[in-house]
Amino acid sequence: MEHACYRNQSNKMTDKRPVNLIIAGPPASGKGSQCSAIKKSYGLIHLSSGDMLRDAIKAKSDVGIKAQEYMNRGDLVPDEIVEHSVLERLQKDDVKSKGFLLDGFPRTASQAEFLIQNSLTPDGIIFLNVPDDVVIERVGGRRVDPVTSETYHIKYNPAPKEIQDRLIIRSDDTEEKIKNRLVAFHKEIKAILDQFDGKIYTVKYVENMTIADVTEQVLKMVDQIKSKI
Ligand code: AMP
Repeated sequence: MEHACYRNQSNKMTDKRPVNLIIAGPPASGKGSQCSAIKKSYGLIHLSSGDMLRDAIKAKSDVGIKAQEYMNRGDLVPDEIVEHSVLERLQKDDVKSKGFLLDGFPRTASQAEFLIQNSLTPDGIIFLNVPDDVVIERVGGRRVDPVTSETYHIKYNPAPKEIQDRLIIRSDDTEEKIKNRLVAFHKEIKAILDQFDGKIYTVKYVENMTIADVTEQVLKMVDQIKSKI
């Protein structure tokens, strides 16, 4: 077999392959914030299927045109549309050399199978377990920066003053749509996690836990996962 070499975060050649991760959890469980922290510490390529679809809508591409009506309702976009876009991105060289951090994918059992079938089984899944009432409360205060796609919360994670005027509320962040998205989440999550048995690292929700508290746990989990590859 060909001997593979990889560049680590300090740009040095190494035999150790990069770590591949999934971050899972209900909407507004903090996946985006934790992905920023993981990306900063480990240099993984962060791939958010939701961001990819929103970019496709902005670009008015075929994928965007097909995805828009589902997203507007807070429904899942059909598997084959998302799978195609995600696979295309995961096959790029930067992902192969730096490792992936998938956020928002897989959302169905068949998307999880799709990863396995394409030899893209992750080394670990970090699961942010947040109760529904907390999700609903958080979504009410969620704001997005349309320039950077960075997510903020008016109370728990306020944006810097100078960009506050440009923040927007996501069109699928209404109470009705979030309830619909939670139904979709609960319907599939068990079957998804079952397929990656033995690789799940769960952050349990504790009241008044800060984003920094969660990050501390998440980064320890990444270290643990990395030590096993
Ligand atoms: P997110 O930004 O992850 O909350 O995703 C926003 C919306 O994009 C979801 O409510 C779905 O409509 C769609 N979406 C994102 N990822 C997926 C996926 N893996 N499968 C199906 N639909 C998705």
